[in-house]
Amino acid sequence: MNLYIDFDGVIYNTIDVSYKIAEDEGINKDYESYYQFFKSLDWCDVLEKSSEINDAFKAIRKIIDSKKFNVFVLTHVVSLEEAEFKVNLIKDHISDITVIPVPKNLPKYKMVDVKDSILVDDYPENLREWKKAGGIGIRFDLDMDGKGFPVICHLDELIEMF
Ligand SMILES: [Mg+2]
Repeated sequence: MNLYIDFDGVIYNTIDVSYKIAEDEGINKDYESYYQFFKSLDWCDVLEKSSEINDAFKAIRKIIDSKKFNVFVLTHVVSLEEAEFKVNLIKDHISDITVIPVPKNLPKYKMVDVKDSILVDDYPENLREWKKAGGIGIRFDLDMDGKGFPVICHLDELIEMF
């Protein structure tokens, strides 16, 4: 079974950190302003200031070792630099995982074969699109608010779920 895991807000708390930087820089809160902001964002800095969520890498190791899933990281990126930094960080922790960067303007379900595959994501819209395309959506949320989807706050909960 294919398991696709989101990065921002699931493995690393880069969302909180990057939006804090945007706020400090007084970026307007519309899609285009954020897009331009993210295009020139210093990902070395963002990743340095961010931290792992709930021992995510250890949990992913457990998931891989359970041999229940083919595990991928499926992460939206705005710049190639963002892709490079994320791939390097993830591979430093888990060398035997496939990382798939998805251009921000493309929905995640278009990048891979969704049928009967699991997506773990903190963003409900990604999950809705994924489900519509034939996949299984699991929400990752620290407050355990599923927004209509099964919800987890530790990635290794997946091992018992399937
Ligand atoms: Mg996310």
